[in-house]
Amino acid sequence: MRTSQYLIPTIKETPSDAVVISHQLMLRAGMIRKIASGLYTWLPLGLKTLQKVENIVRQEMNKAGALEVLMPAAQPAELWQESGRWEQYGPELLRFKDRHNRDFCVGPTHEEVITDLARNELTSYKQLPMNLYQIQTKFRDEIRPRFGLMRGREFLMKDAYSFHVSQDCLQETYDKMHATYCNIFNRLGLDFRPVEADSGSIGGSSSHEFHVLAESGEDDIVFSTDSNYAANIEKAEAVAPATERTAATVELTETATPDQKTIEEVSQFLNVSAAQVVKTLIVEGTQEEDSEAPAPLIALVVRGDHELNEIKAEHIPAVAEPLTFASDTRIKEVIGCSAGSIGPVGLEIPVYVDRAAAVLSDFVCGANKDDVHLQGTNWERDAQITDVVDLRNVVEGDASPDGNGTLTIKRGIEVGHIFQLGQKYSEALGAKVLDQNGKAQVMTMGCYGIGVSRVVAATVEQNNDDRGMIWPDAIAPYQIGIVPMGKSEEVKELTETVYNTLTDAGYDVLLDDRDKKTSPGVKFADMDLIGIPHRIVISDRGLKGGTIEYKNRREADAKDIAKEEIITFLT
Ligand code: ATP
Ligand code: MG
Ligand code: MG
Ligand code: MG
Repeated sequence: MRTSQYLIPTIKETPSDAVVISHQLMLRAGMIRKIASGLYTWLPLGLKTLQKVENIVRQEMNKAGALEVLMPAAQPAELWQESGRWEQYGPELLRFKDRHNRDFCVGPTHEEVITDLARNELTSYKQLPMNLYQIQTKFRDEIRPRFGLMRGREFLMKDAYSFHVSQDCLQETYDKMHATYCNIFNRLGLDFRPVEADSGSIGGSSSHEFHVLAESGEDDIVFSTDSNYAANIEKAEAVAPATERTAATVELTETATPDQKTIEEVSQFLNVSAAQVVKTLIVEGTQEEDSEAPAPLIALVVRGDHELNEIKAEHIPAVAEPLTFASDTRIKEVIGCSAGSIGPVGLEIPVYVDRAAAVLSDFVCGANKDDVHLQGTNWERDAQITDVVDLRNVVEGDASPDGNGTLTIKRGIEVGHIFQLGQKYSEALGAKVLDQNGKAQVMTMGCYGIGVSRVVAATVEQNNDDRGMIWPDAIAPYQIGIVPMGKSEEVKELTETVYNTLTDAGYDVLLDDRDKKTSPGVKFADMDLIGIPHRIVISDRGLKGGTIEYKNRREADAKDIAKEEIITFLT
């Protein structure tokens, strides 16, 4: 590809609304553009990488014997009513009506559709096991889309669903998918960990998540120092010995609109274990007139013997009226708190920042630490954080549940998730086959997801420096960049020869043939920003000595390669 005929709208400055590095760099490199909250256009350069990830996933799934299908994004409500999820799913499910006033949704996942296919098309145990997958656009109306592709509303997922007549057979496919996921993430060059996950509301007996290790990850994952034990924090907390808590409600003064809840109610509402919520105060905020968003909730998770001081919500823009509490009360300890609901500057409040933000931010309007920064408020400064208190049941240094070693906690980006679904959907939809004895049997199911577009961002989170992205060869949009320098015929000819030879050999080559008005410095900076792993410079100066300059994106220094050897060297 020649840059003169290409679209790579690079940006020098870091876009102010991008918080994490992958979002910043992918915007700057001209790989993606935002169209609305959580919705992105893939530009040519970005799409190339996305498709390479897709192909690695596809190859490994095919190798594991899975069959590719493609299901519609729009799904009829009837199927979701059959499974019961039309009622259960909540506002993340984007619902709409067609011209005949029939209810539909845009699929956030495809268990219902695939189970419908299976009940119609599979009749005998002889056809099983069967593993069907697709690589398809999902829509989830995330309450807080953020971090660019990492939490979009529309995103690309590989989702697979397997069908079996026995738990043993499911276990076999599940193990195969576990191994396949390891192959995929290894080929992508990612530093990742499979961890045990809580199967939660979907039910089923076993579940694993695959996490890319990165500070920007939204999840906490827990490892043993001395064994293979690894779990996400929810799973680790579920097996940790519970801490005793007493139910409590917190009284508010009349200036706020109080909505007192017990710990149990709150933990149910927040979908966290009661052990995580100690004392909670939930206040319904008022809604801005033209806002379609649900009325914001402000939640405080507080622990210990405390009294409440003045707490304002002025940092939450969606809350029109500041909330005020009796002025003679004092906060002794606030364990977790949504960012915006900490008001009084000057108070010393120990706050467990990340955990509380992670737990609460999905439920609290405008209350994420990063967002508050974005809105021009420095939460940490305004909140006077003087200490960080751990609210979790599981903390670093705890004994590993398997008895070997102690626990370490790291941040992870969930890029894959595999699940033993059991018979939840097949039972509800009546998906049966005839078994060996000619008896109708409800099928047992597994499901296996990979966030294909999230993987692209996660790769950048792990592979970047102050000059830009650094793509692993396997998914670099272009593996080799060529910068010609000088006007001589020899430079021109050799550039064409090298470009054509490499392209014909199947490499993705980016030739920066922009004219003299674009300085070599700018061209080098763009190649670095885009993260091309291998760059060569064909110049008059080099050719005088018979050499071409080669530079690896990960290395500091360039080296000279004899011009006759450049193809062998690069291939
Ligand atoms: P998360 O915990 O991040 O919300 P999830 O557990 O809801 O993810 P799953 O239902 O397990 O997601 O979906 C399978 C995969 O799809 C996830 O492992 C993740 O990689 C990806 N994914 C989920 N939600 C998003 C999103 N909003 N944007 C991009 N990728 C996503
Ligand atoms: Mg989710
Ligand atoms: Mg998850
Ligand atoms: Mg998941």
